[in-house]
Amino acid sequence: MQTATEPLALSGGRPVRERPLPYGRHTIDEDDIRAVVAVLRSDWLTTGPAVTDFEDAVAARLGVRFAIAFSSGTAALHAAAFAAGLGPGDEAITTPLTFSATANCLLYQGATPRFADIRPSDLTIDPDRVAAAITPRTRAILPVDYAGHPADLDALRALADRHHLVLIEDAAHALGATSRGRPVGSLADITIFSFHPVKHVAAGEGGMAVTNDPTLASRLRRFRTHGIVYGVDEREPWRYDLVELGFNYRISDLNCALGLSQLAKLDSSLARRRAIAAAYHEAFASLPWLTLPRERPGMASAWHLYALRLNLETLRVDRAEIFRALRAEGIGVQVHYLPVHLLRLYRHRFGYRAGAFPLAEAAYERLLSLPIFPGMSDDDVADVITAVTKVLRAYGR
Ligand SMILES: *Cc1c(COP(=O)(O)O)cnc(C)c1O
Repeated sequence: MQTATEPLALSGGRPVRERPLPYGRHTIDEDDIRAVVAVLRSDWLTTGPAVTDFEDAVAARLGVRFAIAFSSGTAALHAAAFAAGLGPGDEAITTPLTFSATANCLLYQGATPRFADIRPSDLTIDPDRVAAAITPRTRAILPVDYAGHPADLDALRALADRHHLVLIEDAAHALGATSRGRPVGSLADITIFSFHPVKHVAAGEGGMAVTNDPTLASRLRRFRTHGIVYGVDEREPWRYDLVELGFNYRISDLNCALGLSQLAKLDSSLARRRAIAAAYHEAFASLPWLTLPRERPGMASAWHLYALRLNLETLRVDRAEIFRALRAEGIGVQVHYLPVHLLRLYRHRFGYRAGAFPLAEAAYERLLSLPIFPGMSDDDVADVITAVTKVLRAYGR
């Protein structure tokens, strides 16, 4: 193992790792492969029994009445915006520090995204700033459980109730997270999850929307299949009707069989993520160059990301240089996320400029996501710790 004083790989030194470590990766075992092969041998490829089994398993796990699977988390978000009745003239308030899909789902429906800045403590949307952003046109609040840490659902729930708003939670990062002992998924009107391979449960592609409200559930389900309702006339069993404009957002049995098999391992993969986060905490706690991600009291993060912030005042270089140096050491760091309001589409359409959401922008300048995924070995974790320490020592003031 290297010591932390060797020359940086960026300056021609030996990298900590020869084989680069990604920031996230799925883990597929023989059970997963058998589950998918079994579907290939069955009568169903697309909507068959595996879809319902996966939906039932997610609903049972989260303690919610309805779970509706989609072809992606983005499709589930779009369906949630539809089910909430959002349309032209309506506004919904979301966080700028998220993947663009969160806000895009509002644009799909012709609604207007409004942003409220984050709380620096956990990088989720600040309920006080949400309150200040509510207008007579506001119809929904769309928080994101950034990195897997639950947003302040209690405060947001109270705001939503007071102003009669729909609470849609983007929990793409947060399957398995809890807030004061209650699972994420049971707290908002609609919660969505993603089963993209870097997320907690890999289904290839896939998403899920969960709710306890039967009306929202039937709208979500209908939106997935073009807006069609079946069984409209007993005497004409072939007859269906198209009652709203939906999409083909179905997910296949192949994806759901994989998702179901992966879900069975959620607890062990959450435990592994938590152990990796704990190892980073312990190794980095005394370094002056970093602000580490922390769970608020009563919150259990699902640790989708380990997103630390550089204390730039204590470093001689910016985040880009640290990023390059760590990549050169073989550590696949990432940045989550470019603030949505500064992406070209949003700048052009809504006139946003730098400085509009200063806390999200300041976080963005400093954020760096370290590798964290269940398949990381203890040696992989040690490599990350060695490389981060080595690079920061070299650039620290
Ligand atoms: C991954 C992700 C999505 C979209 O999920 P897909 O399944 O990739 O469509 C939405 N929001 C957030 C915050 C995400 O990280």
